[in-house]
Amino acid sequence: MAKETLKRDVVIIGSGPAGLTAAIYAARANLHPLLVDAPHDAEKQTAPGGQLMITTDVENYPGFSQGIQGPELMDEFRQQAERFGTEFLETWIDEVDLSERPFKLYTGEQTIQTETLIIATGASAMWLGIPGEAKIPEGFGGNGVSACATCDGPLPHFRNRSLVVVGGGDTAMEEATFLTRYAAKVYVVHRRDKLRASKIMQEKAFLNEKIEFVWNTEVTEIVGTPDEGVTGVRLRHVQTGEERILPCAGVFVAIGHKPNTDLFKGQLEMDEVGYLKTSGHSTATNVPGVFACGDVQDSVYRQAVSAAGTGCMAAIDSERFLDHLPVALPTGEEITIEGERVTPDHKAIITPDGHMIPNFSEDMMSQEE
Ligand SMILES: Cc1cc2nc3c(=O)[nH]c(=O)nc-3n(C[C@H](O)[C@H](O)[C@H](O)COP(=O)(O)OP(=O)(O)OC[C@H]3O[C@@H](n4cnc5c(N)ncnc54)[C@H](O)[C@@H]3O)c2cc1C
Repeated sequence: MAKETLKRDVVIIGSGPAGLTAAIYAARANLHPLLVDAPHDAEKQTAPGGQLMITTDVENYPGFSQGIQGPELMDEFRQQAERFGTEFLETWIDEVDLSERPFKLYTGEQTIQTETLIIATGASAMWLGIPGEAKIPEGFGGNGVSACATCDGPLPHFRNRSLVVVGGGDTAMEEATFLTRYAAKVYVVHRRDKLRASKIMQEKAFLNEKIEFVWNTEVTEIVGTPDEGVTGVRLRHVQTGEERILPCAGVFVAIGHKPNTDLFKGQLEMDEVGYLKTSGHSTATNVPGVFACGDVQDSVYRQAVSAAGTGCMAAIDSERFLDHLPVALPTGEEITIEGERVTPDHKAIITPDGHMIPNFSEDMMSQEE
């Protein structure tokens, strides 16, 4: 049977804070966005609603003075996007063709053609895959197990308690150092006898009296009770095989993040880890008309509010592009939907057929200023 073809001006992939914020802005701008959402049976962090669906208290999202539960917050985002007419399609995008506009997105049942694409597919924290790590009720995820110290470290449950950080890279050192602001003690459990972290991060951690390193050791299980949450971790020495329980009230898994960008390999510019490269002045990727927002293009901040902020930018960039206005590319050039380029110094315009003409409008604007 032939696949159904949908044609749109704005398609958003991903329903985390970035994608839903982009949807709110695009819908209010009458762009009738189609948001492609993961299927409901998707697992863990790739579920509709994104990463906040696997956490409990969110205390740092502005506007909720008493905090809010992650899934509740995402439900509010979704209702707001629905209220302005966002259309939702629950399916995986399996393949994309960004070689020309309209871009083509392929799902099991549809081909979607779109003039602009907003990528908000997020990133996934990497997990250990050990017993006790799964989300409650199967494990202690959201009840003492976390992958984000900035998000969960300040929660009352972790204050003045002993905590475990798993990992040996920069993220692990950053998380451990951050947690010492609240915790009584932080154990860093690492599989090797030396760290992968940068020298400066290592030194900072070594000098911190609250941090103790547990070398050549892996965490094989997270233990606890439904009422108390995490009460300890089972450790195994990688050389001797010796096992013991280390009591603690929380476990922060800091073994890295993986941006959800496999779909775009070979089509969009990425850094060495796979984060999409965007312009410093916009959310534009190297392909004109494709914008990226949220964790998928942010290896530094990775917060719901920063994801929502760039989601807003992506919708406005998309709107500008569809309105024939220039949008800044990562190269510093600006480009319009017709393919007219403004050079990075703004002194010339290169027409789609390759002619260079002086950018008089810029000169006139600077004279007016
Ligand atoms: C345990 C935990 C606790 C956290 N707590 C906080 C907190 O308290 N405060 C805070 O500010 N931040 C917190 N964060 C970080 C925050 O969740 C992220 O920064 C934020 O969710 C990023 O939003 P996003 O929209 O970029 O991506 P995500 O939330 O990752 O959403 C990505 C979406 O894309 C979809 N998707 C991916 N690939 C496809 C595809 N091929 N087809 C269709 N859909 C696809 C996924 O289903 C998902 O819906 C926490 C993170 C974790 C893991």
